Amino acid sequence: MTPMLSQYFKTKDEYPGCVLLFRVGDFYEAYGEDAELISKDLEIVLTSKDAGEGRKVAMAGVPHFALDTYLHMLVGKGHKVAISEQVEDPKKVKGIVKREVMRVVSSGTILDPQMLDGKKNNYLASLLEQDGIIGLSLADISTGDFEATQYRIDISESISEELDRWRPSELIISPALASHASLSAYLASERIPCTVINELPDGAESEAILREHFGPSLRSGPELYQHESALRATATLLRYLRDTQKSTSLSLRFPRFFSRSEFVTIDATSKRNLELLETIMARERKGTLLWALDDTCTAMGGRLLRAWVVKPLVNHEEIERRLDAVQELMASWDATKKLRALLSKIQDVERLLSKCIFGTATGRDLLALLESANQIPSLKQLLAPFKSPLLVRLGRTDTLDGLRKLLEDSLHESPPATLREGNLIRDGYHSDLDELREIRRSAKDWIARMEERERERTGIKSLKIGFNQVFGYYIEITRTNLKMVPEDYIRKQTIANGERFFSPELKEYETKVLSADERIKNLEFEIFSGIREVAARHSQELQELSAAVATLDVLASFSVIAAEHGYCRPQIKEDRSLIITEGRHPVVERILGEPFVKNDVEFNENERMIIITGPNMSGKSTYLRQTALIVIMAQIGSFVPAQAASIGIVDRIFTRVGATDDLHLGQSTFMVEMLETSNIINNATERSLVILDEIGRGTGTFDGLSIAWAVAEFLNERTRCKALFATHFLELTMLAKAFPGIRNRRVAVKETRDEIIFLHKILPGSSDKSYGIYVAKLAGFPQEILQRAQEILEEMENEKKLHEKIPHRDEKYKQGPLQLTFFEDSPHPVIDEIRRINIMEMTPLQALNRIYRWQRSIDRFRNEGQGNPGSDSPGKTTRKERSLEKNS
Ligand code: ATP
Repeated sequence: MTPMLSQYFKTKDEYPGCVLLFRVGDFYEAYGEDAELISKDLEIVLTSKDAGEGRKVAMAGVPHFALDTYLHMLVGKGHKVAISEQVEDPKKVKGIVKREVMRVVSSGTILDPQMLDGKKNNYLASLLEQDGIIGLSLADISTGDFEATQYRIDISESISEELDRWRPSELIISPALASHASLSAYLASERIPCTVINELPDGAESEAILREHFGPSLRSGPELYQHESALRATATLLRYLRDTQKSTSLSLRFPRFFSRSEFVTIDATSKRNLELLETIMARERKGTLLWALDDTCTAMGGRLLRAWVVKPLVNHEEIERRLDAVQELMASWDATKKLRALLSKIQDVERLLSKCIFGTATGRDLLALLESANQIPSLKQLLAPFKSPLLVRLGRTDTLDGLRKLLEDSLHESPPATLREGNLIRDGYHSDLDELREIRRSAKDWIARMEERERERTGIKSLKIGFNQVFGYYIEITRTNLKMVPEDYIRKQTIANGERFFSPELKEYETKVLSADERIKNLEFEIFSGIREVAARHSQELQELSAAVATLDVLASFSVIAAEHGYCRPQIKEDRSLIITEGRHPVVERILGEPFVKNDVEFNENERMIIITGPNMSGKSTYLRQTALIVIMAQIGSFVPAQAASIGIVDRIFTRVGATDDLHLGQSTFMVEMLETSNIINNATERSLVILDEIGRGTGTFDGLSIAWAVAEFLNERTRCKALFATHFLELTMLAKAFPGIRNRRVAVKETRDEIIFLHKILPGSSDKSYGIYVAKLAGFPQEILQRAQEILEEMENEKKLHEKIPHRDEKYKQGPLQLTFFEDSPHPVIDEIRRINIMEMTPLQALNRIYRWQRSIDRFRNEGQGNPGSDSPGKTTRKERSLEKNS
């Protein structure tokens, strides 16, 4: 094999799983299998290269200036791409140029903003498991965000639950997790590429890796250092990044350790059901809570809002702090409008900073950074009168005067998108550069003078001196004047209507000018790189600025949305109440063509469950979801769509809504329904909010009704959480009679002779009809089927009502602990007697007889049901039994 191909395939072995692109002159090339792959995926020509000894190897390549575009396509198709650069100047080396992989680009390590969604973080996650504890770490190298947590695996919660909150673009995992079925299914369904890391650092190594990267003096270190699983996941991630990015100057902040209990737990199913980030069907942003709340002006604000929506707070003070800020912004409306105008001029500082640190920022990027930083003084001035701590924070950020002055003085006012073509630096900033530019500028005058001189010398009036990139400077003579060309002209090129020449004098000047041009470009790049490094050194200030801007932007967005849509400030309470007056659904009210009907919700300490009955299409689901969304909005610090709301902080939100099949996991619709319900039963606490939209629907009527009944009883009496339960099982409304904590609500309907109007109003009481056949009529069922259905319905309604068969075991939940009990729960007389007898005073035969008697007694008891055992209680022995005992 030729030396270069050997070099290629050796490097390829060092980067398994990567497509390797090799810089060769002005191209990035791939050979062998990789060439075939990129040729197919990038739709570029597949050629071949001489591999020595007459053999050929497949080859494909892309021009160096188009690398970003092609990288985008390859990473978009799920590939990991290793980019190998020439690390020596080919002109100065004999033989093969040394090359090194400088960067591995994969979906979790993208830096190019054009490849990223500005309003979404791009996380690379690291996940490991150690003695039943999950360590999770997440880094977004395009913004510097770095977070870590750890938690004990809960059997009812899948490992992917927490991951889903973050939606990483790429994952690295420990070998033990690689074979985890549900995690693999999640990664496959979300198309998250995953790499298994075989060697994980232990606790001490992990600490060393972090200290090496962030330095020994850390402001916020200790908390992470006390959580070994989180620490190890973080160190694994950091090591992976350093191996693949080959740059020690990753723009990462020190990882923030967070505990999951800081936020409301919203499991993946509920997040999906409530359409927090994407809609269920179309998986779009429009129609989600995020969409309804997002009027942010900056990419940083957009990303922060996205993070807030899935992480509602549980800390009362923190929630109030956000609400205070929103209220203050609303009260100072003029200032808020001005603030937002300034915010909209701020670019994605976090990502610009990362580009500076990675050395990929262009002149336009630095100009955008300057434009953004220039807004700070005015922002601070506008914020000066504000009192809320969250707003004051931005008022305290550095105005970056030094950096701004440097950028202002040095940057060209309209730099190109490239870095090597010059026009990066302003005139007057650097004397050497000015001098070289002067030489280049004076060339124009010199050429004009020479042109004049040569016209006179040759007598050719139409003689022209021109320049092009390929041939450089030339003297152009038209065909008719060719006979007058002097001897010292040397022919360079023939054109349609004449010839082009150069003279020794022109050549000499060309060399001078072109070398000045080359030197200008190099010098500009050098000066620019220095300025970029200065910007990178301001990473801490710029990150603080970004965080403060993001917070202000989200809070201002909340205030604008609240004002525009008539939201109110929720009262946040520590108790278990939930009272919403005239609540609305934040999304449905906006996409509905007609007025939205407002509804109340009232839970207090003693009323925990609302059972809602009503026809199909009447608005039950909307009411359920709007209640959950209002609670989430309140706990992320937003005002809420209601006239008034008083919200007792919830710790978890669970939903069981409709049928979302998980067929790829091999689970039937009903199984999914039961799994989700089981998750709720096992994990809901007294402080949780549970939304149940029709459980028990996916099986036989009796099974379904019984399950729904038992679940409702359990949640009300055992869990004692707040629950909204929509159902078509009208029998469930009987629960309200049996349990004081349960209330019935129905959706109002107006029935005319040939039409049913859904009023969408939730009223006290229960429905007595489902109107399913009417909805079938709206859906265009043939009259024949509708009529037949009506007949069957009437027949069935004449039969005995189902609820009369339901045993009302309301007493059951009033006593005893949760476990299945034998001794405490059962009042059976045999048990009483076992307790009372003194075994020491009995002979073995007496004991045997006693057992015989109990056996008979139990049989009798069973035959007569669990009622009063009556006169046959075991305490009363028959004559025969007594004689047996005596004889023995
Ligand atoms: P089903 O029992 O068939 O699932 P449902 O009772 O849950 O139906 P929803 O899906 O909540 O009904 O609502 C059906 C439609 O009614 C909504 O898409 C919306 O257009 C409208 N709607 C619901 N609630 C309201 C409301 N409060 N004001 C105005 N329109 C509403």
